[in-house]
Amino acid sequence: MFSRRAFAGMIAAGLTEAAFAQRAKLSGVAPADTVWINGNEFPDGPPQAAIDAMAQVIGSSNRYHYQEFPDFYAKLAASEGLTADQILVGAGSSEPLHAAVEAFTSPTIPLIYPVPTYEAAPELTKYKGHAVIETPLNSKMQPDVHRLAAEADKAGGGLIYIVNPNNPTSTITTSDDMAWLVANLPKNTNILVDEAYLHYATSPEASSSFRFVKEGKNVIVTRTFSKIYGMAGLRVGYIAGRPDQIERMAPYRNNVISIVSVRAVSAALDLGPKMLEERKAKIVHTRNELCAWMTENKLKFIPPQANFVMIETGRDAKKMQAALLAKGVAIGRAFPPLNTMIRVTIGTDVEMAKFRRVFSEVMAS
Ligand code: PLP
Repeated sequence: MFSRRAFAGMIAAGLTEAAFAQRAKLSGVAPADTVWINGNEFPDGPPQAAIDAMAQVIGSSNRYHYQEFPDFYAKLAASEGLTADQILVGAGSSEPLHAAVEAFTSPTIPLIYPVPTYEAAPELTKYKGHAVIETPLNSKMQPDVHRLAAEADKAGGGLIYIVNPNNPTSTITTSDDMAWLVANLPKNTNILVDEAYLHYATSPEASSSFRFVKEGKNVIVTRTFSKIYGMAGLRVGYIAGRPDQIERMAPYRNNVISIVSVRAVSAALDLGPKMLEERKAKIVHTRNELCAWMTENKLKFIPPQANFVMIETGRDAKKMQAALLAKGVAIGRAFPPLNTMIRVTIGTDVEMAKFRRVFSEVMAS
């Protein structure tokens, strides 16, 4: 997707740090027993069936296995009631997000997004010299769909980026808000909905925007296997949209993904929804426990709908990150303008017990 020169330029600009911002950006050295609740990953590995499937194919990974991909795309699409020509698969959801920026923004067609949100797409847009428009969150710390639409209208069109639930605030854009936005979309405007964390939402007001894709609206939706599936290191994700939207993005895709990753995802899909329900229940249980503890201890936080939570500390978030890391707890980076809040990923019960202990120590110091 990038020429070698452009990539060198990105490194010089420090942009690889930002564009791949989910990567651990730590202020200090992590002790050996550090708990990693900084990257919104799932605390357990891929399902066992996926591990077995990977082990089986490794020996034949001298081949590209191109012939397997049409069936894989069809299977992946069908798992969400879509057809193969409605999806584009890439390395994580990062690659399709980049393809969407390439295809749907320009120096005059802006990416329009709330702040703070996941930075990869905004950073790439800025790097390319394409236009960006930033909007504040609403009073519930959710993307303000009215403001996003108004900005798109003023600009004569654009690509509205909504992460649902939003990273880092862990807040949803409600079904009603999404429906309003789709119904009131200014001309020449598309919506890019990033559903990396939707699996964890428990609110009855949360729903997938796949429904708009199925209705043929100007909506494209990304999904990833990096989060609830426990496959961040395998790099599989996709974007769904109308076939004409997919065709616009396809030239920016790199190539097929790893066959090892394909087999892992395929085996995970065969497990059906039960595996996802169990994983969701585990995280929601631990999330509820943490929220109950914070309420008991009169700590302020944004009620979470994803596998991470923003906690108000009243202190500089970067200093908090360093102080927690020194005691073996790695948390997320700072998210301006929420400079006194820290983002904490929901890990295992044991990891969260350590977080509670270390957090209390740091706050008491
Ligand atoms: N979208 C959001 C909201 C994220 O938080 C992340 C990573 O944390 C990504 C996309 C990209 O992840 P991946 O490329 O692993 O799918």
